[in-house]
Amino acid sequence: MTSVQLKTPATGEYTQPTGLFINNEFVKGVDGKTFDVINPSDESVICSVHEATEKDVDIAVKAARAAFDGEWRRVTPEQRGKYLRKLADLFEANVEKLGAVEALDNGKAFSIAKNDVAGGAACLRYYGGWADKIEGKVVDTTPDTFNYVRKEPIGVCGQIIPWNFPILMWCWKIGPAVAAGNTVIIKTAEQTPLSALVAAELIKEAGFPPGVINVISGFGKVAGAAISSHMEIDKVAFTGSTVVGRQIMKAAADSNLKKVTLELGGKSPNIVFDDADIDNAISWVNFGIYFNHGQCCCAGSRIYVQEGIYEKFLQRFKERAAKNVVGDPFHADTFQGPQVSQLQYDRIMSYIEHGKESGATVEIGGTRKGDKGYFIEPTIFSNVTDDMKIVQEEIFGPVCSISKFKTKADVIALGNNTTYGLAAAVHTTNLNTAIEVANSLKAGTVWVNAYNMLHHQLPFGGYKESGIGRELGEDALENYLQTKTVSIRLADALFG
Ligand code: ADP
Repeated sequence: MTSVQLKTPATGEYTQPTGLFINNEFVKGVDGKTFDVINPSDESVICSVHEATEKDVDIAVKAARAAFDGEWRRVTPEQRGKYLRKLADLFEANVEKLGAVEALDNGKAFSIAKNDVAGGAACLRYYGGWADKIEGKVVDTTPDTFNYVRKEPIGVCGQIIPWNFPILMWCWKIGPAVAAGNTVIIKTAEQTPLSALVAAELIKEAGFPPGVINVISGFGKVAGAAISSHMEIDKVAFTGSTVVGRQIMKAAADSNLKKVTLELGGKSPNIVFDDADIDNAISWVNFGIYFNHGQCCCAGSRIYVQEGIYEKFLQRFKERAAKNVVGDPFHADTFQGPQVSQLQYDRIMSYIEHGKESGATVEIGGTRKGDKGYFIEPTIFSNVTDDMKIVQEEIFGPVCSISKFKTKADVIALGNNTTYGLAAAVHTTNLNTAIEVANSLKAGTVWVNAYNMLHHQLPFGGYKESGIGRELGEDALENYLQTKTVSIRLADALFG
């Protein structure tokens, strides 16, 4: 069996594929292994899915290689674009279903999950538009040569995605890879395989030839490791923790030196100046840390507020955060659902305990909510010092630290006092302050008077240990292309 009948509270009964999607078909794993998918809202088993092992990765790689060397190579760029745009249309037609499956499996609010699906569709359509606009150039060197530089796809790409935005990351990865003419094996996170399998059905419906996009479920240490060390995979793209990012880079180096792009963790500063519009700043600071239950690599987890408004800001921020509705993802008012898994819940709670033990003050939260499901109250720590673990390490949950600063120079130094460099924000009504601070922060994205404003047209990625390469925008295409120089010596007769 490679499918099961399931139900979501929002959309009722549906058929959930559970197989590995290889060559446009759902198949069982070679070893016949399966694993359970847990509902983080109530800790029940939703279903079990087939697990890919090294052998299945090999089969998927062969399929992707055959497609790359065969039918896909003959597909025109225009047609690649059409396939991607058709897939985007199908996403939009299935927004309720995909959103409901995402909310069930990941625990994010259904309304927010639907936004992820819509954002994913927009991303696929955007890269569909790029497919026939990838161009090389002619370079004149000497009169008796003709040189052209071609942009070619890299080949078979392994893509490993996390559980915090399962469907959105799927689109961020597949869009540019396929637009550039590559073929793909994408491995979902073991916590959240379901929405990607529903989306895999749409790949076939969109008309993609077999083997172009292969979707597998499996564990990091098994299927993920098999991808990053595979000799026949030409490129690996990863989104996840910095710890695993290092392992992937090592595996790539030790195998065939496949190209590597990494989108990793963060500990992003969110800076509020005395002259900020305080109501706006509070809303964005709240959204910056608590959106997606704090499970965002760009979460604004270090909040720095200038001393003139610090006390007032803290008081009002506490009131605002306490109003975030934590609960059932399928309830219309819910903003924050459960953390994704027991493991994540335990990790976050141990950071909270560590924060308390190291002398920081819990302003609000710090506790579990309810007794079923992985719900954690929005948590704010004050009285922190910059060397504390809760200020330095990525917690990946609804937990932030808040502290005060005096001057612009001080806060730039504080903001940059991290091994990460994914994102940052500055809240001020002074344009000069905004630009000076934005330009001084070592981060791949800086928001001004806002937070989490990601858009598929804008590059996103990390400075320092937050990653290598960029997702989204034109930049992401570069991750999936390589450059070939062709240099032709013209016939002597031409110049005789
Ligand atoms: P988290 O710790 O937040 O779960 P990870 O970085 O471990 O995040 O996981 C992100 C993705 O990386 C998942 O798809 C996971 O299966 C995969 N992964 C985990 N460990 C490895 C590994 N050693 N090699 C390749 N992929 C891995």
